[in-house]
Amino acid sequence: MPELPEVEVTRRQLEPLLVGRRVARVYTTVPSYFFLTPPAELRRRLRGRRFELLERIGKYLLARLDNGDRLLLHLGMTGQIFGSGVASVRLLSSTVGAALKPEEQLAAFQPDKHTHLRLRFEDDGPEVFFRDARKFGKVQLMRSNAPSKRLERLGPDALSASGKLLFEAVRGRKAKVKSLLLDQALLAGVGNIYADEALFLAGVRPTRSAARVTRRECDAIARGLHQVLERSIETGGSSISDYVGPDGRDGEYQSERRVYARRGEPCSTCATPIARVVIGARSSHYCPRCQR
Ligand SMILES: [Zn+2]
Repeated sequence: MPELPEVEVTRRQLEPLLVGRRVARVYTTVPSYFFLTPPAELRRRLRGRRFELLERIGKYLLARLDNGDRLLLHLGMTGQIFGSGVASVRLLSSTVGAALKPEEQLAAFQPDKHTHLRLRFEDDGPEVFFRDARKFGKVQLMRSNAPSKRLERLGPDALSASGKLLFEAVRGRKAKVKSLLLDQALLAGVGNIYADEALFLAGVRPTRSAARVTRRECDAIARGLHQVLERSIETGGSSISDYVGPDGRDGEYQSERRVYARRGEPCSTCATPIARVVIGARSSHYCPRCQR
């Protein structure tokens, strides 16, 4: 599932594909829960508009248009936003991919039934596709100053996390520290991968009661978050399931993971097998020796 680094990498690569370009035509699939704005309305209101700015807010992308409207994009679980002409096996459904020879898998992507949004521009340059096999992604076109409950309930961006902020948030809370890190109202952008990685670097077990995390440990968790998020952005994010960058390339951070989805593998510090535990229906990974 794309988290802050994957969304930020998407933002950086998507910016030159969107900003300054005017939409000539919009293609969508039929209405579904993917579209918070009905697709017919989206097609009508986006046509002729020029993109002026692309921001990231937590795990959301927010594109500002020349009439002030804002296009909200969320990658959900399996969302992929990319330019035309790219190729990746991750852009093929497993059945289609399996039926193709390796050289055929590398042919440029052709829009399929999972390509829910497709933007063509007046300059006839590369198109932009938003593909999502499971449709947990979201698209919404908001009027310039319309309030957004989704954005308003987000806490500060995880890249600005500080030990002080974390300590104030965890103090007196009975919830497990891992659950609090995933709470987007507390800190926007962190999901399962980077919460597990940051807790490992901080030496704090994900199951620890938040109320028993010290100020010093909160500093260490904030440092851990900065380290893993920034390194992941540098390496193009994590491509563990469906994520690809807008240029069709995989991220490379998954090879640097220390605990996430490494159950049973030796800890990189002490060689103890990495353990897995379920917290709030999400799996958490930790070293039983290094994390207390
Ligand atoms: Zn260890």
